Amino acid sequence: MALIDTNAIVLKSVDSGETSRRLTFFSGEVGRFSLVARGVKSKSGRAHAGLEPYVIARVSANLKPDADLGTLSRSEVVERFAHFRKDLTRLAAAGVFCETLDRGTQPRLANPRLYEYAAGFLRALDSEADGKIVFLLSHALLRAAQAMGFAPELHACVSCGVATNGRWFDFAAGGLLCSRCCPQSRATGMPMEAEVAALMRVCATRPWAQVRVAADDGPETAALFTALVRWLSHHLECELKSVRFLRSALKL
Ligand SMILES: [Zn+2]
Repeated sequence: MALIDTNAIVLKSVDSGETSRRLTFFSGEVGRFSLVARGVKSKSGRAHAGLEPYVIARVSANLKPDADLGTLSRSEVVERFAHFRKDLTRLAAAGVFCETLDRGTQPRLANPRLYEYAAGFLRALDSEADGKIVFLLSHALLRAAQAMGFAPELHACVSCGVATNGRWFDFAAGGLLCSRCCPQSRATGMPMEAEVAALMRVCATRPWAQVRVAADDGPETAALFTALVRWLSHHLECELKSVRFLRSALKL
């Protein structure tokens, strides 16, 4: 048995039998992997206490090099993010982000940049002021997509290559289409206002520390988030279930 010992984000946790839980993690060194935590639900034991979704934990486990599922031996919560757990909007935003990582990453593919980015997002979600959480999440989804290798092209028309403010966000073509090209290709995608395209470019090119002061959850941010969710659903070939929870928390 190979041993791993790494800091990892808990992406999800599902019951497995009477006393066990199956946990999916993401770590920079190991990538996405799943472990069975035995005894976690037994009355006597406090095994793996606090190993809830969206915490960062130090985990030791037996995980064969070619396996997707191992057995958790030791765990210790390193960062719990107590603040966002008390706030339904932030908790839902963490859910959307972690579901995207769960769906968008390959199993056992190391990605230190994505891990650092994800941990930074969870910290910002815990400490950021109210009124910019949807912007923070939109920014994080785009940056995570860049680290996963499927970010959209936002500067030049993906069909003819001219600089564009965007008229059409084409999911299948992987970015913005100019006004000349968009009528020819409307099979997948949605119209996009120039202001929303500009906001998307800001998210794609500037770190959160630079955009956070001006960020706010206005109508353009709502339009940006809607576009990102539709694009992610197309790319990941699934509806992100956690988006519904976020929309109901936001009363959208
Ligand atoms: Zn064009």
